[in-house]
Amino acid sequence: MDIDVNLGACEGHGLCFQVAPSVYEIDHEGYVRLRVAVISRDLEDAAAAGARACPVAALKVVAPRIDRPESSQKEHNHDER
Ligand code: SF4
Repeated sequence: MDIDVNLGACEGHGLCFQVAPSVYEIDHEGYVRLRVAVISRDLEDAAAAGARACPVAALKVVAPRIDRPESSQKEHNHDER
């Protein structure tokens, strides 16, 4: 997944940071920025919770991860041989 940050909408409330400090931080001007370049799987819940906490909807969850069953990944790898 990824987080779409609409900096034009951010008003610096900081709720995203309070809810998910592992994902969001506030820059020197008081606006949100992501702490990580990639939202790893273990950060997805926190990232989504922080986005939901934003009172002006400046954060949007995009490209939700689509997990493939392990068996289909093996089949895919087999096809590449
Ligand atoms: S909660 Fe929303 S408005 Fe506040 S800093 Fe985070 S993104 Fe910006």
